[in-house]
Amino acid sequence: MSNLHNIIPIDKWFTTNSLKTPLIIAGPCSAESEYQVLETAKKLAEIGKISVFRAGAWKPRTRPGNFEGMGEKALVWLKKVKQETGLRVCTEVATVEHIHKAIEYNIDILWIGARTVANPFAIQVLADAFLQYDVPILIKNPINPDIELWQGAIERINRAGINRIAAIHRGFYPFEKTNLRNVPKWEIPIELKTRIHNLPIIGDPSHISGSTKYLKDISQKALDINFDGLMIETHINPKEALSDAKQQLTPKGLENLLNELIFRKNNVSLKEIEILREQIDSIDNQLLEMLAKRMEVIEKIGAYKKENNITIFQLRRWEQIIKTRNKFGESLGLDKNFIKKILQIIHKESIINQDKIINK
Ligand code: PEP
Ligand code: MN
Repeated sequence: MSNLHNIIPIDKWFTTNSLKTPLIIAGPCSAESEYQVLETAKKLAEIGKISVFRAGAWKPRTRPGNFEGMGEKALVWLKKVKQETGLRVCTEVATVEHIHKAIEYNIDILWIGARTVANPFAIQVLADAFLQYDVPILIKNPINPDIELWQGAIERINRAGINRIAAIHRGFYPFEKTNLRNVPKWEIPIELKTRIHNLPIIGDPSHISGSTKYLKDISQKALDINFDGLMIETHINPKEALSDAKQQLTPKGLENLLNELIFRKNNVSLKEIEILREQIDSIDNQLLEMLAKRMEVIEKIGAYKKENNITIFQLRRWEQIIKTRNKFGESLGLDKNFIKKILQIIHKESIINQDKIINK
């Protein structure tokens, strides 16, 4: 358990026009045109619950040749948003040059994207640039579910003297195909909060969902575990969006969503035991998903054994499983007997399933 140095709560980040909490950040994935940016911002401002307008000026794209953002032009539009709507504005920075430009255009809040956070060298370079500026920074979780990397990035930025800081939970790259674009692994932000008590965490249901379909459930979950806000991608015309089209809401859609969400009292913090139970729930779900995955593979092996007329039970393989799992399990601090019992249960179920296939 620790605290970050001199951290400032979100509602005190600005002395004038202070941010509403829970903090709602909304706006398009990317700034595409002056019209798109300003129209979206005006509609969002009318809702009355949104304090910060987001829009990417520089977009990290997996392959070259896709829309990579409007760069400095987008900053001009963001500045206009500030003047015309009173909303605070924020954008992603990934290089030192981005930082200097964003500051030059008085962007109120900067965020560091998931791809950048995965690289400690890149983070240190950005942190060094922040030594000369005092600006609030939001730090997304890295693409891979590595809490150390996330915490490390937050610490590096905090050590650069940034005390208006928050984490953004945007989910983790899935290795298996899932309904969600990124798996939430709720136990990770919860663990982060357990480690750094005074760190605000903002949910990014858009990048977790990857579509508008799951936004409500993911947003509610984030609120229920006491996140300090939400960042939700919103576009005046989502169908035409140049990036992340499937996950963006219209401003009206966002208004409806915000009306449906239940904002529970945020002055009663989750009891320690509830936090731990949330972790257990999430871990159990992952255990079950992995078991189901294992059974799928077992069935494939069953089909292969049937085709090639091989016996189901292979003593040497079984011995090897026991040996390697025991060794690994013990290195994790698990009891040998416990590992053996679990393996036996799983193995028995696997044999039953293969038997069904072979004798079909
Ligand atoms: C974004 O917010 O549009 C973005 C690029 O997010 P992430 O870094 O989480 O992928
Ligand atoms: Mn996006």
